[in-house]
Amino acid sequence: MTAPDPSLVSTDPVLIPLFAEKGIRASVLRLDKIHPVISGNKFFKLHFYLEEAKQTGKDHIITYGGAWSNHIVATAAACRLYGFRSTGIIRGEEPAVFSATLKDALDYGMRLEFLSREDFTTRKRAYLSPSGSSYIIPEGGYGLHGARGAATILQYVPDISTYTHICCAAGTGTMTAGLLSASDRIQKIVSVSVLKNNQQLDTDIRSLSGDANKPALISHDHHFGGYAKHTAALLSFMNDFFRQTTIPSDIVYTGKLFYAILDMAKKDQFVPGSKLLLIHSGGLQGNRSLNKGTLIF
Ligand SMILES: *Cc1c(COP(=O)(O)O)cnc(C)c1O
Repeated sequence: MTAPDPSLVSTDPVLIPLFAEKGIRASVLRLDKIHPVISGNKFFKLHFYLEEAKQTGKDHIITYGGAWSNHIVATAAACRLYGFRSTGIIRGEEPAVFSATLKDALDYGMRLEFLSREDFTTRKRAYLSPSGSSYIIPEGGYGLHGARGAATILQYVPDISTYTHICCAAGTGTMTAGLLSASDRIQKIVSVSVLKNNQQLDTDIRSLSGDANKPALISHDHHFGGYAKHTAALLSFMNDFFRQTTIPSDIVYTGKLFYAILDMAKKDQFVPGSKLLLIHSGGLQGNRSLNKGTLIF
């Protein structure tokens, strides 16, 4: 397996009539190009966790996630690459047929343990640290090390100070927190929650970003029914967006982000002259949960 390569990141302009009409410029930061599996924000979020594990002499990483989790498969691949054993605690009963994501995780040498949804919520802590050589990465990489890693993302944008808005999708909010702490005081961070009614998100972001005076603008209106839920309208938007820009997106995060930003632009929520940086945080592997042919990319 090749190592992730942040020098592959590009900043691609989004040239669509809507933005031209509204006097907005926008570009997509293509973190998805870093690596096919340790992709997007996961590469950045994992960095300091793995570094701490190494420095404290741990050789076994344990983490948590669902059957299509970008975090699980990225962790499995990173552990293979950097020489850690890994265990993934997976939400839900062991399926008869494994998802493509879990098959990949197994191929990278991750040991999988399945917990019913109920046990996952209430008992997963009982699976912590079977030995002193284990290092736990919280579910979704939520935590200070994750945010510190995400704060380094903006180093890959040469003209970062020219952007008025930095826009990203949020699951746990770790990436949002990192971007908040790395951004300029005058830049706005727009964060699109992909969970339904996650009112915790604001608090979760603040507790990692360390700056209560610089809030993110959070959209709770573009979750399309909730985490990993998607509609025909979202899928056809993703295909249209690809036709117009040649930028692929994923059904869980970046499709909802791009949809949200276009929707907000339509509603004049960005003043003319705004310059938007949309973070493509990766996750394309998750599209394999769709029937073949649903997406044109
Ligand atoms: C994990 C992930 C996110 C969410 O990141 P958080 O730090 O949990 O908010 C966004 N986009 C993609 C593609 C992801 O895989």
